[in-house]
Amino acid sequence: MPEGDSVYRQCKMLREALEGAVIESSDFRVPALATSDVAGRTVVAVVPRGKHILIRLSAAPDAADLKSGAEPLTLHSHLMMDGTWRVFDRQQDDAAARPGRRRSRPGASPYRPRGQARRGGSVRSAAEARTRISADVAIGQGSHTIRAILRTKDVEAVGFDVKDVRLVPTRLEEPELVGYLGPDILGPDWDLEKALERLSAQPDRAIGTALMDQRNLAGIGNVYRVETLFMTRTNPWARVDSLPEGKLREIVTLAHKLLHLNKDRSMRSTVGQAPQGRPLFWAYGKDGQPCRRCGTQLKRGEIDDALLTVDPTPSRTAVQHLRTIAWCPRCQAAT
Ligand SMILES: [Zn+2]
Repeated sequence: MPEGDSVYRQCKMLREALEGAVIESSDFRVPALATSDVAGRTVVAVVPRGKHILIRLSAAPDAADLKSGAEPLTLHSHLMMDGTWRVFDRQQDDAAARPGRRRSRPGASPYRPRGQARRGGSVRSAAEARTRISADVAIGQGSHTIRAILRTKDVEAVGFDVKDVRLVPTRLEEPELVGYLGPDILGPDWDLEKALERLSAQPDRAIGTALMDQRNLAGIGNVYRVETLFMTRTNPWARVDSLPEGKLREIVTLAHKLLHLNKDRSMRSTVGQAPQGRPLFWAYGKDGQPCRRCGTQLKRGEIDDALLTVDPTPSRTAVQHLRTIAWCPRCQAAT
């Protein structure tokens, strides 16, 4: 499950590959965009907003005609559970296709990560490394999962299994795409007080659910939910208004710190510097194992994220609402 830090890294990779470049051709494999073409536009910016990826494009080259739809556009995508963007080197593919040179071996994916072939596959390119390192980013998807392709002179950026792929006029980003999001935990305009205010506005909700509601604050996924609640000794089902004085602030401040510590890291960890051979998390994925603080066996629980559906598009209805979490019945006992 991608969290804000994965999205941040994906955007960094896309920014380095695309920003300032002209799109030579595009290919959208979602019905709504089947006839859309953004060729000729320049990639102006790649921006993460919570768990959303916004690729901003310039006006179409013939914008002078004031043709409808020629204005600057934003390509929106969301990683949801298993989406990922990857960047591939185009010049490499061209070289491989030259007459007299053997093409890639039969059965091999036509999508070769940047730099991989050139370096014999053992040393990965920076772009490939950045994609692969995120434990929550699935790799090796087949071409049937491709939803969007942007080609520039040098690279091909491919969105595998990305969801909610939409092209929206950039001026409508707020009302149509991300305006409902709470303060972005990894954004330059992060606002702790506003996030606390929004969390407190629904006092009867479980803190475990409230933290994941992107309308309260944007960027927290299941990993950071489980870890921050464990680290702050908070029962996941405790009502927001039942938390002791200052606890909400402690939880959100810690989540902010953890996401920032991990945003440029190769390996996500909440237990300090990613230690060799040691667990990367306190509780996430560790139900059945002894609590590293008190030795009690960590429990598996389910928490209802149904209330988090914030987008009216039908594509969101398929989202699984009960999410599995791990927690310590002693350290995180209900009070
Ligand atoms: Zn414990």
